[in-house]
Amino acid sequence: MPTTTRTTKLPSGEAVQVLGQGTWKMGEDARRRAGEVNALKLGLDLGMTLIDTAEMYASGGAEEVVAEAVAGRREELFLVSKVLPSNASRTGVPAACEKSLKRLRTDRIDLYLLHWPGSVPLAETVDAFEALKKAGKIRHWGVSNFDTDEMEELTGLRSGGNVQTNQVLYNLIRRGPEFDLAPWSRQRGIPLMAYSPVEQGALARNSRLDAIAARHNATPAQIALAWVMHQDGVIAIPKAGSQEHVRQNFAALDIKLTADDLADLDRAFPPPTRKRGLEMI
Ligand code: NDP
Repeated sequence: MPTTTRTTKLPSGEAVQVLGQGTWKMGEDARRRAGEVNALKLGLDLGMTLIDTAEMYASGGAEEVVAEAVAGRREELFLVSKVLPSNASRTGVPAACEKSLKRLRTDRIDLYLLHWPGSVPLAETVDAFEALKKAGKIRHWGVSNFDTDEMEELTGLRSGGNVQTNQVLYNLIRRGPEFDLAPWSRQRGIPLMAYSPVEQGALARNSRLDAIAARHNATPAQIALAWVMHQDGVIAIPKAGSQEHVRQNFAALDIKLTADDLADLDRAFPPPTRKRGLEMI
């Protein structure tokens, strides 16, 4: 087991863990709830203190699972939640945030993201985020599912440069962001937060990872995760509903991919050679 976690820096200068915990699909089924709470708790015990959730997940149910898992441990936590584009207006953002805070049973969200670009003018959402920051309800804000042109538009707005992350679909079979979004973000010191880092479990069953996994005495999912975390300025947020998967994901921090491994992975999962629109799940 790794003894330490690894961090990267937000534009604000604050260090955040490169391995966090996702929560999509949590809170949907009462029979799985105890297992989900225990998985998140174990992750916290191990040091995976960044937890990603959203008002959308189980219509708030995932935020309630998080609240249960982190009860009494708020200070250890870096809590990320998201507002739906349909709530991204001047009045909608603070109202949605209050509801999330209530479900999360906390007084502040560390990083509040716009879940994906919508029809509310971006400048209005940014102003609403800045107002929440002033009010102490959120500490930072960011976006999700923004392609490079959308990031350009955002950072051109007043206060738009305060964006702290862009959470996007990024894993071995979704390497599109490497073409321009990842270099663009890296140049500006804005970390990408990679969602679905094991392609919702599909990379755990991908035989093209078997040989490399065997070399490291690891599982294919661990190799997929290690590859995401190997990328500079990228944070991975795998979701694990079982303690076994949490342990394995944490242990992936210790996997050091060699130049040969990386070359093999490039052959099996080629990097993009042209611009493609950002994919979303
Ligand atoms: P992931 O790629 O994290 O895959 C989750 C699935 O993989 C689960 O079925 C889980 O099983 C399984 N799994 C996890 N760890 C392992 C392992 N070590 N070995 C084998 N299987 C494993 O997909 P998600 O879509 O959940 O993405 C992660 C998080 O990113 C979400 O939970 C959410 O917080 C965020 N997200 C954000 C989006 C956005 O639009 N901003 C969109 C999608 C996700 P089990 O649960 O049984 O452990």
